Amino acid sequence: MIEETGLSKGDILIVDDALPNLRLLSRMLTHHGYQVRGVSNSSMVMTVVHAEAPDLILLDINMPGQNGYEVCAALKADPLTAEIPVIFMSALDDVLDKVRAFAVGGVDYIPKPFQIEEVLARVETHLTLQALQKQLKQQVHALQSLTNDLVHANNQLQASNNELNAFAHTVAHDLKNPLASIMLTADVTERYLSQGQPDKATQTLTAMRQGVHKLDNIIDELLLLASVRKETVTKTPLVMGRIVTQALLRLRRMSEQFEAAVELPEIWPLALGYAPWIEEVWMNYLSNGIKYGGKPPSLVVGAEEWDDDRVCFWVQDNGPGIEAAKLKNLFVEFTRLEQTRAQGHGLGLSIVKRIVEKLDGEVGVESTPGKGSRFYFVLPKQVHEL
Ligand code: ADP
Repeated sequence: MIEETGLSKGDILIVDDALPNLRLLSRMLTHHGYQVRGVSNSSMVMTVVHAEAPDLILLDINMPGQNGYEVCAALKADPLTAEIPVIFMSALDDVLDKVRAFAVGGVDYIPKPFQIEEVLARVETHLTLQALQKQLKQQVHALQSLTNDLVHANNQLQASNNELNAFAHTVAHDLKNPLASIMLTADVTERYLSQGQPDKATQTLTAMRQGVHKLDNIIDELLLLASVRKETVTKTPLVMGRIVTQALLRLRRMSEQFEAAVELPEIWPLALGYAPWIEEVWMNYLSNGIKYGGKPPSLVVGAEEWDDDRVCFWVQDNGPGIEAAKLKNLFVEFTRLEQTRAQGHGLGLSIVKRIVEKLDGEVGVESTPGKGSRFYFVLPKQVHEL
């Protein structure tokens, strides 16, 4: 069957200085579907094997020059040829011979004169063994890389699990505070109404509305955070002037309340990003600048090209600045947010970091106590096509 299709059952190299032996074996193995090469001089073996490695070597022991043991030892010492199974052939049938044959790395031993059936059976067995070994090695290798992948995925899951736990904790905590104050205000409002003091009740209702507004903001940020975690967006050129104006429009009430002044650049360098997310980044930096800036807040918004690939955007405020010890934890995610101040709920900067890093950028802050803070983010620059 194999002979008919022309497919070889394996490539065998016969090494024997006795040409009649070589011819006989060669004819027999070729007849049974093997591809056969023959070498009668042991000094040629390494060259022939290096030219193209056979699947198996039949190696005579007694040869002039290097004998079979020495050839086998040389093959086993070379990593390129060490895996090729070697079957010894010899007329000598003493025990010492066999022991030495196995000691130098031979897998089997065929006595001369040959019994055709025996030669075929041994050759076939060792070729099958060799193929199985190769397969096993590949499987072990595949298993190893699968295990590595699993360990990696498990670590990631663990990290994301820890993060989610901390997240749930922060969320519960953050939502509870405004809720408690709303409940309290509702009780007070009820009391004022029952005491016939509608003016005071109106005032407490305003405070209640603020609490609801705060809850609403937190929920918006949580939704944004969830979408940043999940979604993959395509970066497009940003019309930054319009994005900042939009954010300032959303902050108008707060800005009026704090009597904030905001100075904008005249020219915006072109950067790549995702406009809805970048608007949230500005919302956070600008509202923080208003909340934590000077009294009244005076903000300078700036932009400059950092190098050939990146553009930096920032908000400089006139606040009291932030101590060095606190700076490095500002952008840290939920796990450490409990340390943040009571005014805010502390989700904002960690979301900013997530957004900007997901857009292949980076965030940072520079602050000198007494001289205000500069919160910045860096985005990839839009490269003009010629
Ligand atoms: P939040 O404002 O809701 O607390 P953020 O993550 O936006 O959440 O800010 C975390 C903390 O960082 C704030 O509570 C505040 O203490 C500090 N911070 C942020 N921006 C400024 C700023 N411009 N100046 C001084 N402190 C700031």
